[in-house]
Amino acid sequence: MGSSSRVVEAIRRRPSSLPDRHGYFGEYGGRFISESLMEALYQLESEFRKAWSDPAYHREMNEVYRDFVGRATPLYFAEALTRKLGGARIYLKREDLNHTGAHKINNTVGQALLALRMKKKRLIAETGAGQHGVATATVAARYGFECDVYMGSEDVRRQSLNVFRMNLLGTTVKSVDSGTKTLKDAISEAMRDWSHSVLSTHYVLGTAFGPHPFPLIVRSFQSVIGRETRKQILRKEGRLPDALVACVGGGSNAMGLFYPFLSDLGCKLYGVEAGGRSLRPGDHAARFQTGKVGVLQGSKTYLLQDKDGQIEQTHSVSAGLDYSAVGPELAYYHDSGRISFSSVNDEEAMEAFEMLCKTEGILPALESSHAIAWAIRHAREFGPDRILVINLSGRGDKDVMEVARLRGIPLT
Ligand SMILES: *Cc1c(COP(=O)(O)O)cnc(C)c1O
Repeated sequence: MGSSSRVVEAIRRRPSSLPDRHGYFGEYGGRFISESLMEALYQLESEFRKAWSDPAYHREMNEVYRDFVGRATPLYFAEALTRKLGGARIYLKREDLNHTGAHKINNTVGQALLALRMKKKRLIAETGAGQHGVATATVAARYGFECDVYMGSEDVRRQSLNVFRMNLLGTTVKSVDSGTKTLKDAISEAMRDWSHSVLSTHYVLGTAFGPHPFPLIVRSFQSVIGRETRKQILRKEGRLPDALVACVGGGSNAMGLFYPFLSDLGCKLYGVEAGGRSLRPGDHAARFQTGKVGVLQGSKTYLLQDKDGQIEQTHSVSAGLDYSAVGPELAYYHDSGRISFSSVNDEEAMEAFEMLCKTEGILPALESSHAIAWAIRHAREFGPDRILVINLSGRGDKDVMEVARLRGIPLT
């Protein structure tokens, strides 16, 4: 209790003091990376800090957010869902209405504008299901960057539609055949590319993860979600929410919503991980439920690993939550108790998906459906005068084929 109340005190005083100048959130984070990338990470950090304190940069970003991305996204009172669940007043932060269908574009716009300032000619990115790849390909097209996106060959096969989307946008998708042929291997290949190409190339990392300064810069770009939410709820309800809920893959939509509320201790924060088929090894991506602290891809954080330190396979019905590590800032707030974490399994997420379709006329992404499922489970524990905001991180159009397959419904 002593140490966690100290942490809470520290947050109340200065939520912006983390990460420290070495990139640590308490013991998490850091910069565990080969010598050849240090230079690039130092450059990125100093350019980011310069840009972030430059009003001209924010003016440009806000204009792109408004006219290209479609911000501000609405904070929508889900009246029918509220009535159905019979508990807290539920609001949805509509990140699903962004251009390209999710919050990912908030980050790729910010990083593309940084890359322009650094005079880079080329962008590279990793992608799992393809959402971050599409968001990166979109800004590459818009600003005239060459663009290569690394994707595990297993994901290339499963997500052929997103591969074609990226191609239409002028991006080359590089299929990665090493390891498990999925996201983790795509990140490794992107870092390898970057270590040979740093002079011409910016690596657009897709979530609040990886070596410092990526967790800092991705959280900063995504925190537009929480800043808007704060203003919108004050206008609609005249007060702050009692709780915020977000699904957690790497942690960018969660940190983006939570960050501007960290020092409002009356507002509880809930992160929801993928419980998959079960909590047995290989069946899920609930890092805070069964994971241990270790180092992966540049960052010290909670990981799913076996007793020999080998990274475990993961599974989730939603590709965006299917990763064996979690962002270091979330690890820090997990330990301090500021953010509570739990998991929702595949079936609960599917039922939440179906419920939101039928009650609100909104098809949520299967990732976001995990946050909805949490609300279905817990809404009634809050009184009807309580306010709960759910981050609807993306739209579900991309998932309808998968839902049909899982429900045994033949299409075509
Ligand atoms: C990628 C993705 C996520 C998970 O990533 P975070 O970095 O944890 O936000 C969640 N929802 C959607 C719709 C996504 O595309």
